[in-house]
This record gives sequence, structure tokens and C-alpha cells, in this order.
Amino acid sequence: MHSYPDASAVVRALAPDEPVIVNRPQAAARAARFFVEAFPGKSLYAVKANPSPDLLKVLWDNGVTHYDVASIAEVRLVRSVLPEATLCFMHPVKTASAIAEAYKVHGVRTFSLDTQEELDKIVAATADDAGEAATDLALCVRLRVSSEYSELSLASKFGIDLADAGPLLQATRQVADSLGICFHVGSQAMTPFAYVQALERVRAAIVDAAVTIDIVDVGGGFPSIYPGMEPPPLEDYFGAIHRAAESLPVSYSSELWCEPGRALCAEYNSVVVKVEKRRGDELYINDGAYGTLFDAAHIAWRFPVKCLNADRAGGEAEFAFYGPTCDDGDFMKGPFLLPADIAAGDYIEIGMLGAYGAAMKTRFNGFGEGEIVLAADEPMASQYRGDRRDPRMSDNVVSLR
Ligand SMILES: *Cc1c(COP(=O)(O)O)cnc(C)c1O
Repeated sequence: MHSYPDASAVVRALAPDEPVIVNRPQAAARAARFFVEAFPGKSLYAVKANPSPDLLKVLWDNGVTHYDVASIAEVRLVRSVLPEATLCFMHPVKTASAIAEAYKVHGVRTFSLDTQEELDKIVAATADDAGEAATDLALCVRLRVSSEYSELSLASKFGIDLADAGPLLQATRQVADSLGICFHVGSQAMTPFAYVQALERVRAAIVDAAVTIDIVDVGGGFPSIYPGMEPPPLEDYFGAIHRAAESLPVSYSSELWCEPGRALCAEYNSVVVKVEKRRGDELYINDGAYGTLFDAAHIAWRFPVKCLNADRAGGEAEFAFYGPTCDDGDFMKGPFLLPADIAAGDYIEIGMLGAYGAAMKTRFNGFGEGEIVLAADEPMASQYRGDRRDPRMSDNVVSLR
């Protein structure tokens, strides 16, 4: 992969007709080291956010040893790239064959579940040929929690209701070597209180079930920075989680886990696109809803943008984007702030696409080719540069409690 000082240098060197993905491994490395050093427990990378093998190696090299995988294809992928990684199969609905292959071929010992049927399936699929049950399972019961503080809900699909959790926790305790409780507050959680509130529900579940808990897994949802979405510093989240988890009625040797996806990889990629046509305040660009801009199209997520043509120096104006496919839905309403005199032939860098961006690319309609290059400069925004306000000055946690 060729390396350039920044995205402008990519355009000067290549004048690319296809979108170019720009990787910043140094940004992902910094995020990984931050989680490894500052989270008061273990950080599992949620692979679905960006399964690129290059990224997996960067995270591993910077101390991320555990990976949250959700399909047998992700199990095989991570196992082939990182033979020594610990894999945790955290999708609560799996096929029996996926569980058996994960356990018997790939050494997976940690599974999540939210029903008695899934528990039975896991026990059956991990038994040996003589029918003896496995004695080395770490099983995490997924609790349904509120998504009200997150930009993207994950509350309706998975998780057992608190009212029903007691019997499932007790049944799981019977067969698990380690028993965990996990949840997901939704992606891009904009306040640490989301986790504090979810951990209150964990407390109620533990008290109700009267079982010994070995793992508390607070899931993903740690935010990144986007236009109009500037979350408090991650230290605030870690502090609030630490305090809330410390006061739970769990065993002294219990472990605290988290499953960051977005926060570990959002800064890893941007994309350089070309303006093919301008129609008023709409720009026709060569990437879109079926490429890296899935979230920009489907949930009107705003990503940072920068015109890479130095001679465009006029005032800024608001633009919407059309992608390259023939689908009317290939539309990103933004608004994206760009120079008012931007024109066909210009190039734009769209940043913070490392999470749920590069991973969403399809080949629909013949688009989706394109090069991948490296850039040495800073990502367009960062949670980890150390120039944000002093986390101790934050009033976020205190005022919400
Ligand atoms: C998607 C997902 C994650 C990662 O979520 P982010 O919001 O990207 O941090 C973690 N855990 C589970 C179970 C998930 O489904």
C-alpha cells in the first residue's frame, strides 16, 4: 500500500477517477492503546464495525487480544489473521453448526445468549462425542437495556427483559464455568449515563437471580466525533462505568469487559471522492449509499468533509450528495459544508468512515472498485489527540446522576 502525507497528496499523485479509501493505521493504533490502557477492564474489538485484516493486525499489535465476533465467517476470518486471539461469539442467535465449529475447531469458549433455547443449543453443540457437556464455557446472558441515549438503537432486537432474566441466569449458571451478563446501550451513546442506567438494570437482574456473576460486559456504543455530535471525553465513560461496576454485587475476581467497535476504528478510514457533476446545491459524487456512505444515506449521518482543491477559497455553502448508482435512494442529504464555488472535477475527502463505512461497500451497479492507500496525517477528528478539554472538568456524569 502506497503512503502519502495526506489526502491532498493522494489527489495530486493519482487524480483518481474511482473513490480511494485512505487508511490511517496510526489513528487506530492510538485508539487501541487508549482502550487497553484506560478502560478499567478488558476491551473486545467488535469485528463487524470493520473486519479489514490490516486493521485487525494493527489492533492486535497495539494490545487488543480479545475479539467480539458475530458470525462463523467472522470467527474464521479473525482466527486466520490472528491465530492467538481470544474470540468471543457474542451474537445471541447462532446456528448449531456455527457454535460447534467455533468451539471445536477455533477454540471459542465464550458465547452470548438471550433465551433458554439458545442455551440448550450451545450446551448440545459443545458436548463431546460421548455426549459429555463442556466444562469450560463462559456464557454471557444478554440483557435488554434502553437505547434512549444513543444515536442508533440496538434495543429492540436482542436481550432478555429484566422480568424474565432470573430463571435464564440460574439455568445458565448450572452449565457455565463462567457466567456473564452483557448488554448493548446502542451505538454512539452520547452520555456515560447510558451505561450507568444499564448497570442499574444489571444490578437488579443479579439480585433477582441470586447467582454469582463472573463477567460484566458493558458492550459497545462508545462514541466517536462527527459534525453536530461531539460527545464527552471517553475518560468520563470509563470513570462512570468503573464506579457503577465496582458497586455491583459480583464476586471479587469478576471481570469487567467492553466491546468497542466504532470507537476503535472510526478514525481509521476516510474516502476521497470526485465531484462528477453539480446541480445547484447537489453534488454528484462517485461513492454513495452502496459504497462507504451507507449510514450517510440510510440514517442521514453527517460525516466531516473537506474540499481538496486548494484554489476553492470562497465562503462555505451547504450541499447534499448523490452517489453513482442509478438508484434514487443513493442520496446523502447532509448537509455537508463545502466551498460555495465547488465544481465538477473537484475532490472531497469524507472523514471518519472507518466504522460501518468501508465495511459496508458493495459492488452494486458496477461501482465499488477503487484503491486503498495510506496517509500519515491526523484523521479529520479524533477522540485521542489529547487536545480535548480536561476530562476532570467535565460535569457530565455528576449532573446526570
Ligand atoms: C455492534 C456491536 C458492538 C459494537 O458497537 P459499537 O457501537 O460500534 O461500539 C458491540 N457488541 C455487540 C454485541 C454488537 O452487536
